[in-house]
Amino acid sequence: MLIPNMSDHAHALAAAFRQQGMPAEVLPEPDEETLMWGRRHTSGKECFPAIVTTGDMVKFVKRPDFDRDGYAFFMGGSGGPCRFGQYNTLQRMVLDDLGFEDVPIYAPHQGRHFFDDMGIVGRDFLRAAWRGMVAVDMIFKALLEARPHETEAGAAEAAYRASLDDLLDVVLQRGDLVRSMVRARRRFDKVPIDRSQPKPVIGLSGEFYVRANAFSNQHVIDKIEALGGEVWMAPVFEWFLYRNFRRDMRAALDGDLLFRVKNRIEDEVMTRDEHALARPFQGLLRNFHEPPTGDVLDMAEGYVHRSFEGEAVMTVGKAVDFIDKGLHGVVSVMPFTCMPGTISHAILKRARAEHGDFPFLNMVYDGNEQATDQTRLEAFMHQAVGFMKRRGPVHADRDELPAASH
Ligand code: SF4
Repeated sequence: MLIPNMSDHAHALAAAFRQQGMPAEVLPEPDEETLMWGRRHTSGKECFPAIVTTGDMVKFVKRPDFDRDGYAFFMGGSGGPCRFGQYNTLQRMVLDDLGFEDVPIYAPHQGRHFFDDMGIVGRDFLRAAWRGMVAVDMIFKALLEARPHETEAGAAEAAYRASLDDLLDVVLQRGDLVRSMVRARRRFDKVPIDRSQPKPVIGLSGEFYVRANAFSNQHVIDKIEALGGEVWMAPVFEWFLYRNFRRDMRAALDGDLLFRVKNRIEDEVMTRDEHALARPFQGLLRNFHEPPTGDVLDMAEGYVHRSFEGEAVMTVGKAVDFIDKGLHGVVSVMPFTCMPGTISHAILKRARAEHGDFPFLNMVYDGNEQATDQTRLEAFMHQAVGFMKRRGPVHADRDELPAASH
């Protein structure tokens, strides 16, 4: 099973597949060759992540050592209000056109038939994949909070890499992931930190793929850090909890009580897992506590109604959460032609007007480096520094998680 290389979360997914006895590997990171193949096999009107993930598939099947009998591609599947559910249809057509009709694309639908679609690997897989991805989010948060303040270059990255290797091994071996997070916490505790020079803290929100994929967002986190900032990013796991909310909403409309009960139990288990894996980082992370989906939707309420499904409502809600947490600016990223992204960027202009001089920056990515992007980021960071001086530094997240349940 070949997993798209969106971020290090893909390695957790691959480890969960392998834990179930299914050979899995993560595709190489996207690069210029990816774009070349992706653009060659798309019309230019598709979402940018569709172009990147299609290009990665074509790049892989074009390898001289590609074994057409030995591989299947994994791709997300979805209904809902945007084009994500069409990626695998497009990619099926592309592989067919290239003569790879026999290479499967495995795209479980994230709607109400998700659990049936995941039947080939079983429910153990879902729990292992979920826990692995949350764990990656937690150590990534620790990396983002430590790296801008480290006094020994590379120390935070080394702690992150060691923690990632450890947690992937634990997922594979069905070990105790909470203990792995405790070990990660100890590693980050040892990273030498100097916070005497306050840095503006920038929230990164926006479309799921471009937000998480450094190649697609042209390494926006590195650029903000190079300009003297610290980044807090909306976690990848946020999307999966939101998916539970959407499934419940759909089932409520259909009056499917049994599904709602099953979905609620699933959501409860996932939330407890999230809290158990976050808890070892309490006291270390300032960006420790993620608000529940319902709270994020409440925060978006003044701008977009929760019945408007998709990324827009979460992007807006998360931006408001960052403002409420006292951050010094928000960068919202979206792929070129993204439907929810276009909506959220328009709405965020209103939010900006309503929050006085709070610095907002909308960034749109299509794979081409724009000459003005760096200048816009520099101007934004200048505003963020000014805002920080007026508002003061971000304080630690004092929220307590519910009592440990396991
Ligand atoms: S969220 Fe945007 S980029 Fe992603 S599939 Fe939907 S429309 Fe495309």
